[in-house]
Amino acid sequence: MPTPAVIATWPFGQIAVRAALPVVQKGRPALDAAIAGAQAVEDDGTTHSVGFGGLANSIGNVSLDACVMEGRTLGCGAVAGVENVRHVASLARRVMERTPHLFLVGEGARLFAVQQGFPLESLNTPESVTAWYKRRPRPKPERPAPRGTAQLRAHPLSHDTVTVLALDQKGSLGGACTTSGLAHKLPGRVGDSPIIGAGLYVDDTAGAAGATGVGEEIIRIGGSFFVVEQMRAGRTPQEACENAVRRVNALAVRRGVHPAQVAFLALDVKGRVGAACTTDTNFQYATNKGEKVELNKAREIGVETR
Ligand code: ASP
Repeated sequence: MPTPAVIATWPFGQIAVRAALPVVQKGRPALDAAIAGAQAVEDDGTTHSVGFGGLANSIGNVSLDACVMEGRTLGCGAVAGVENVRHVASLARRVMERTPHLFLVGEGARLFAVQQGFPLESLNTPESVTAWYKRRPRPKPERPAPRGTAQLRAHPLSHDTVTVLALDQKGSLGGACTTSGLAHKLPGRVGDSPIIGAGLYVDDTAGAAGATGVGEEIIRIGGSFFVVEQMRAGRTPQEACENAVRRVNALAVRRGVHPAQVAFLALDVKGRVGAACTTDTNFQYATNKGEKVELNKAREIGVETR
């Protein structure tokens, strides 16, 4: 019987691992565990980039993105641009289980949430409103970037996602990814997090992977799918994450820009974990060592100059 394992992004991932681990240890499916972990962070008002108390967009609204995926049948669901609903990972699961669709956005996703009995509430907290007000976008003249090289240089504290990957006692993988995205994003902007293959990908025949960081750069390389396909080709979870970061770096060089803050994490059916990030991302991830929850620093991969 495989030993259950959980891995989650950032120091607040410790909240997720603590909530998810008992679920898989009780013999429940990995997807249940991943969503329980994600939800614990969505409920934590002191985590400023996920769920309740998340980072507001440019007009001061908290708009959430999430997706979930299970590795046995590749069942998945996603929601994006959802306001006033805090448990968006759970909502993504309802899309997966109760609709013929995979992805609902904006007002449609919110209407579906109401139909499914999710409460509508304000996701702003006094802290999130103050943070938005202090750093609200103010127009300033900018030199346009050369065509094709426009790039987001996000403030290090102005984004983050909780991505939770779990392995259950049956040897099956599940994942959930939930975020408020980039602070001050344009209304309607969607990052990698709710996109299957970008922010999350889970396949029992290869492994599970998730991402965090500047979503535009993660989408560009199909990040999580890339990591999973690397594992399918025989790379360890660690090697797979490092190769994905190398791809981000190489693309930045091609585009003549500095690599954005991007990080990947991975888990395979043997319970092996991996994590890597671009330089200056300072990515930490939480995982379990038996019963203990540990916080680890991911390996940084710099641009190769050859
Ligand atoms: N990937 C998220 C997004 O682009 C943000 C993050 O994880 O830092 O929306």
